[in-house]
Amino acid sequence: MNEYDVIVIGGGAAGMLAAAEAAKRGLKVALLERNDRMGIKLRITGKGRCNLTNNCPVREVVENTPTGGKFLFSALNAFTPQDVMRYFTDLGVPLKTERGNRVFPESDRARDVTEALLRQLEKTGVEVFYKTAASDVLVDEIGAVRAVLTSRGEFPCRAAILCTGGLSYPRTGSTGDGLKIARRLGHTIFPPRPSLVPLEASSEICGRMQGLALKNVAVTVYDGGKKPLYEDFGELLFTHFGVSGPLVLSASAHLREFDRKKYRISIDLKPALDEKDLDARLLRDFEKYSNRDFANALGDLLPRLMIPVIVDLSGIPPEQKVHSITKQQRQALLNLIKNFTIEVMGPRPIDEAIITSGGVSTKEISPKTMESKRVPGLYFAGEIIDADAYTGGFNLQIAWSTAYAAATHTVM
Ligand SMILES: Cc1cc2nc3c(=O)[nH]c(=O)nc-3n(C[C@H](O)[C@H](O)[C@H](O)COP(=O)(O)OP(=O)(O)OC[C@H]3O[C@@H](n4cnc5c(N)ncnc54)[C@H](O)[C@@H]3O)c2cc1C
Repeated sequence: MNEYDVIVIGGGAAGMLAAAEAAKRGLKVALLERNDRMGIKLRITGKGRCNLTNNCPVREVVENTPTGGKFLFSALNAFTPQDVMRYFTDLGVPLKTERGNRVFPESDRARDVTEALLRQLEKTGVEVFYKTAASDVLVDEIGAVRAVLTSRGEFPCRAAILCTGGLSYPRTGSTGDGLKIARRLGHTIFPPRPSLVPLEASSEICGRMQGLALKNVAVTVYDGGKKPLYEDFGELLFTHFGVSGPLVLSASAHLREFDRKKYRISIDLKPALDEKDLDARLLRDFEKYSNRDFANALGDLLPRLMIPVIVDLSGIPPEQKVHSITKQQRQALLNLIKNFTIEVMGPRPIDEAIITSGGVSTKEISPKTMESKRVPGLYFAGEIIDADAYTGGFNLQIAWSTAYAAATHTVM
């Protein structure tokens, strides 16, 4: 087989952009993808809409990247969110910016992003090999990259860019192969952990409300102390194992020490009402239903699935007549509505996580070029690197920027 200048391993977000950009420089590039399609994960991002970046300054991307933010500074500056927006607009994907500076294709179709990259791969002359899984990167006698070993045999090359992603959503093809290759080549791998992940919680309470989506609730997360660790407003979903939904996924990225800390989530079920207004509202409902049993008096205030749980937790007997509820009992109910507490047991497994935290140590990668400091000619891009961010398009921005850095510096 002919020698390639660069072999890109993994046809996800990072791999497709890296291959196209390296080929644009006139290099002979092959892109190896284990699936029979590129960008399977990219196609399901942003609920199929692909939140491809965040239209904010680089400083804000770094602030939203709790692991590896500083390491990424140089790559982010070389290919900023605004560069990414120009890049995709130029590739024929008009974009729009939504709440929180989240950027999406105007069409709301993630596949437009993938297809634009596929067109670019073709245009730049990248040789694409589907159903080709890389199992190792081979080095020569001085320890520099010389070939990639695959299910189809050896691909000789001068450089390789590992873009195999993390361990999340393995059915999309991201099964952690690159991490094994990097480890074998002497890299330190920080143990992969789930981030942006549903949370397991007091299953008795959550399981009873399975399927219930609470819209417009406020959530505060605590780590044992009184100081909030995270606060946000939005949608939360109860499941058979605990809680999920956008609010919980975002919150989970802030819960990073499950081995040492106990987390609890407090949900304000009526954030639009302060305590005084809520009390007035309870009094109105109680007056309206004064002759009913307590268990049958909350239908105007709370979702059906939640009522039996709230009744149980309130300590007020379900058959107590509403007119006999004391001020103290009403106060206990009010506290429960403003501060519905869920004890978090831990994250769901990594294959259910949006993002893999952990990966190749950034201490062993050049921040400007993404080249390995251990193996000349080996580069990294995307989720395989020990860097991960909150929701908002930041994780794809990391994939694009690191891919761009690797592609523009490989085989100088
Ligand atoms: C449901 C979901 C929604 C998301 N939504 C967003 C969002 O809206 N915005 C955002 O910023 N981020 C989002 N993310 C995160 C984002 O998808 C990832 O950060 C991004 O895809 C990482 O890109 P990557 O190229 O590093 O890895 P991946 O996209 O995982 O690509 C890795 C590729 O490598 C291939 N591969 C693996 N091993 C081998 C091998 N041995 N040989 C050959 N090929 C191999 C895989 O098949 C895959 O195609 C979402 C993630 C999920 C799971």
